[in-house]
Amino acid sequence: MNDSPLPFWKRKTLRQMSPAEWESLCDGCAKCCLHKLEDEDTGEVHHTNVACRLLDLSTGRCANYRQRKLLVPDCLKLTVDRIRRSDWLPATCAYRLVAEGKDLPDWHPLITGDTESTRRRGHSVVGWAVSERDAGPLEQHVVDETP
Ligand code: SF4
Repeated sequence: MNDSPLPFWKRKTLRQMSPAEWESLCDGCAKCCLHKLEDEDTGEVHHTNVACRLLDLSTGRCANYRQRKLLVPDCLKLTVDRIRRSDWLPATCAYRLVAEGKDLPDWHPLITGDTESTRRRGHSVVGWAVSERDAGPLEQHVVDETP
């Protein structure tokens, strides 16, 4: 019989997690750092491969995570309520999966123990996204799916 305790993301709700557990849940895919376009008439959300100017395209990490709200005022801080209402977080987002009562994918760093496993397994925007500094009109960067 396996007596090992369940990992925290299976034992706790998002609201019950400590700040460190909450932060570790992020797989670092950076898909939430890509711009979206919303159709004014239908409300439909279109994804693009254009990243926030603060995203480091070589690592997929925010270049100034602590001050991101100051530097990019429309950067959305993830909250439990926002995650539940979200129609723009990717289906693979760990916060969304836990909120939906699902398990993490086998490539998630909390499963693999490798902080680079999201990128290594092709689930990061690294190598695929372009910076808003260079992209030009967002309409030219609409994509069907994120990686
Ligand atoms: S989409 Fe979710 S898992 Fe991916 S970087 Fe954003 S918050 Fe983290």
